[in-house]
Amino acid sequence: MEYLGLENARSWIKAAALLISENASLLTELDTAIGDGDHGENMMRGFNAIGKKLEAGGTPPADPAGLFKLVGMTLLSSVGGAAGPLYGGFFLALGKASAGKEKLSKPEVGQALAEGVADIQRRGKARLGDKTMVDALVPALEIFRASSDGDLAGALQAAADKAHQAAEATIPLQARKGRASYLGERSIGHQDPGATSAWLLLKALASIGAVGS
Ligand code: ADP
Ligand code: MG
Repeated sequence: MEYLGLENARSWIKAAALLISENASLLTELDTAIGDGDHGENMMRGFNAIGKKLEAGGTPPADPAGLFKLVGMTLLSSVGGAAGPLYGGFFLALGKASAGKEKLSKPEVGQALAEGVADIQRRGKARLGDKTMVDALVPALEIFRASSDGDLAGALQAAADKAHQAAEATIPLQARKGRASYLGERSIGHQDPGATSAWLLLKALASIGAVGS
């Protein structure tokens, strides 16, 4: 796979919805340990709403930017909690970065993801090591951009694998942002729910690489 086009982008969102629903109870369990136990439900609500919008008549998105915008707007409007606006902003930034492009090359996907992650950090002010979704996204993005060959599918897989590892690496951290930070040291020893959902989103993106463009 050399490019990410509209069909790939649609497959990503479908795969993400499936992975989120399959892992909703895991996300909720993780959020029960260090938050308020709603992360799985929040993410499910968002992706169900996206699925409904895509299936409802109307004009379908014409390009990846249109799809990402729809996803971002829907997450913003349907998901409460911290993660909704953060992921909403992520997809809106992806949409802006993809504007006018029929398909995205590997460097363009890297740029779009970088703008998405930057938006999350602008809104949430979390830094690496604060035990949030940023801890999965930033290292994954670094690996994606560092993979120098033009193979988009390979770079996406490497990014997803890194995000998995990085989500697990949040376990020993103390939370410094979001609800989990209220627990202080008691947040240590648990995997961050948002880092885990961020990994799932990247895993879904990598899964389309195997399918081709
Ligand atoms: P809430 O905490 O409002 O119940 P969710 O449970 O849906 O929202 O999401 C919790 C996740 O959101 C956390 O695990 C963390 O990864 C992420 N998060 C919270 N605050 C921030 C922040 N300021 N920046 C980045 N991510 C954050
Ligand atoms: Mg929560």
